[in-house]
Amino acid sequence: MVRFIDVTKTYDTGNEALRGVSFRIEDGEFVFLVGPSGSGKSTVTKLLTGEIQATGGKIMVNGYNLNNIRRRQIPLLRRTLGVVFQDFRLMTNKTVWENLAFVMRVVGSSGHAMRKRIPYVLELVGLQGKERELPNQLSGGEQQRLAIARALVNNPEMIIADEPTANVDPGLSVEIMELLAQINDLGTTMLVVTHEKGLVDRLGKRVIAIRDGRILRDETGGYYPNAAVERSQPEPAEAASAEEEPVHEPEPGEAASEEESAHEPEPAEEAVEEAVEEAVPAPSAGAIPMEILASAAAMDTAVAPESAAPQQEVNDHAGD
Ligand code: ADP
Repeated sequence: MVRFIDVTKTYDTGNEALRGVSFRIEDGEFVFLVGPSGSGKSTVTKLLTGEIQATGGKIMVNGYNLNNIRRRQIPLLRRTLGVVFQDFRLMTNKTVWENLAFVMRVVGSSGHAMRKRIPYVLELVGLQGKERELPNQLSGGEQQRLAIARALVNNPEMIIADEPTANVDPGLSVEIMELLAQINDLGTTMLVVTHEKGLVDRLGKRVIAIRDGRILRDETGGYYPNAAVERSQPEPAEAASAEEEPVHEPEPGEAASEEESAHEPEPAEEAVEEAVEEAVPAPSAGAIPMEILASAAAMDTAVAPESAAPQQEVNDHAGD
């Protein structure tokens, strides 16, 4: 579970990256984080992983209070998170298998655990049979699948995917996003940072839109779920503030609707919670073979790395 309460972040340069951000992500949720360049998305993800610290407010991540987390607890926090980067960050001189074995070894997993877990995640992401290949022998889409497998292999509570489709063939973006949705269906909480409006609309999940370091919207259904309502019932104050608000490099084709839907944020947590409660169940992506779905709970339990056992037990959502 992730909780941001009135979080602010001002960098040493004086840049106010976050100006009072509140939201809550429950275990097992799928959430898109969207917003123009410079809006604060990376700042949110870096705060989540403990890479940087907030200037003000409170942050809880998977049971860790980041306001008073000890330095030696940071690796434990990170074991609850799997991160997928837009540029994959694979070890190019290691095979597919070795890329996964490496991260399992880091957390002290046994060879036995690796022999069970790695084939499972490779099948889940559709890379079975590619164990001996090097990353540069894989297509862009396959490399990103491997990066997703790596994020998943230590059975984290949550995956943070930072623009996971930015460097894959547009035709394969849908597959990557649906794979993330399938993994979410198995119980892993998913936070996906993206600019891909079409994919966000297609998946119909919760969307947190951020702009100028503030939450602009937090709703389920698509990039602009209430755009029609906002257009038909404009509030004078909102229209005025939208005009004054500086535009941060909107994506091509987005500028018009960004302007129409821009309004003051709703920092109150109650509003965020209401949005979550009203969340429409997401459509199931459903392309994982049933036997993989059925075996997920047993497999995760069997191969949970000992060193991460306390979190893994709590996090074993797959059988929920
Ligand atoms: P996004 O990921 O949405 O593009 P960021 O979180 O990277 O946005 O940036 C939010 C704001 O914080 C921007 O104004 C950016 O210039 C600033 N910023 C980000 N990182 C740093 C940093 N290390 N030092 C100073 N300012 C930064």
